[in-house]
Amino acid sequence: MTANKPSLPIVENFSRRAAVKGGFATLGAASFVAAISPLRHAAQNSSAGEFMQNHYTELTPEQKSDVLARLESEAKENYGADVTIGDDRPIPGTKFVYAINLSVCNGNGKCVEACHKENNHDRATNQSYIRVLEMPVGTMDMEQGSTTYTGIVPKDGKFYLPVQCQQCDEPPCVDVCPVKATWKEEDGIVVVDYNWCIGCRYCEAACPYHARRFNWKKPEVPAEEINPDQSYLSNRIRPVGVVEKCTYCLHRTRRGKLPACLEACPTGARVFGNILDKDSNIRWILENKRVYILKEELGTKPAFFYYFD
Ligand code: SF4
Ligand code: SF4
Repeated sequence: MTANKPSLPIVENFSRRAAVKGGFATLGAASFVAAISPLRHAAQNSSAGEFMQNHYTELTPEQKSDVLARLESEAKENYGADVTIGDDRPIPGTKFVYAINLSVCNGNGKCVEACHKENNHDRATNQSYIRVLEMPVGTMDMEQGSTTYTGIVPKDGKFYLPVQCQQCDEPPCVDVCPVKATWKEEDGIVVVDYNWCIGCRYCEAACPYHARRFNWKKPEVPAEEINPDQSYLSNRIRPVGVVEKCTYCLHRTRRGKLPACLEACPTGARVFGNILDKDSNIRWILENKRVYILKEELGTKPAFFYYFD
């Protein structure tokens, strides 16, 4: 998105330490210290290896291998879990797109729970990348929805709007990151290098869909509940003091599986696939249904669609 693009300092790829130093120089002492205050806390818990690590896109294959081994070892040490952390890259010729049939979704929230478990979210805060909004019939303005509904669903006069990262083709969250810790990959998925993020939360503020989450505390997940099938840019347990988000379960989808939220949906409301595949269900829906995107007026160009039967 080029209109009204915020003017923020961009720090080119040096070490994370240089990024912090560069931000200090360009933002000014007081504002930068305030912006990265969570990082100061997190840095106390960082290993030397983590602090000196290069940006993900700058790592050689050997360095990546060392980083993944270090993270697996830290998962064992900190959580008592044997995990495997992969480096899942986009599949050439793939552009992932999601759609939800709002005539079918009944607000049961199974997708929210599945995301919570699949992505190793903090148990105490019951975190998830998905929010299901209970909406008054007659509007697609998500700001009119409620996430705190209770009782039996569906209710008369309401419909249910699940919202997660829309993997925007013009993502404002990427534009505002001062250290390029978040970017869009070739298959359309917007990712975060959790070891490069300085926790300033600019991206969280810039996201019009409230799709980013900040780790205020060390995530707590019992060893026996940890999903051991992890990926560096996806569901490995994120450190305290960084921002995280939905990645369309890239640790699954880049391995040919479906997102966990889709598999958990008991109503069949969710459709996911490669829009470049002419025979895919998702392609058929976009060609044959009247689809909606949220906050179209902002020009974010979501890769996430909604439709009614
Ligand atoms: S929905 Fe929010 S976090 Fe996701 S790509 Fe768009 S602006 Fe970024
Ligand atoms: S990813 Fe978000 S929180 Fe992290 S450095 Fe970039 S803008 Fe700041």
